[in-house]
Amino acid sequence: METVSTATTVWTRDDVKGEKRDLWTAMKRGFRCRCPRCGEGKMFRAFLKTADNCSVCGLDFTPHRADDLPAYLVIVIVGHIVVPAALWIETNYSPAVWLQLAIYLPATFLMSLMLLQPVKGSVVGLQWALRMHGFDENAPSDIPPV
Ligand SMILES: [Zn+2]
Repeated sequence: METVSTATTVWTRDDVKGEKRDLWTAMKRGFRCRCPRCGEGKMFRAFLKTADNCSVCGLDFTPHRADDLPAYLVIVIVGHIVVPAALWIETNYSPAVWLQLAIYLPATFLMSLMLLQPVKGSVVGLQWALRMHGFDENAPSDIPPV
């Protein structure tokens, strides 16, 4: 007769070797476009180009894989602001279409531009705090890179 072990392994943050990484602190620092580890160094060298490393603590930013997630999140955030506002204004005031377009299009464009860099910083901070991709210095070496 075969016996099956019912013991489970529960992983907690305390089991992780290395520095403690607070998710919300890292995301807030990233939202301010600062290094998620020290909160001082700049994360970006251009609008959406991350620096190679932090100028203060030396954290390597190159392992991040934000890809298209910041753009998707900005679409969701801005959409949830502009669409309800447009529906509410249309329902209550019914302004002319040209006036609505003159407000909603630039507002959408400006909000998207203003949020894109902070949201990307938050995503990089999230990846660093969760030790995703190359941000885990204790990752097993037999895992192939993505
Ligand atoms: Zn730093």
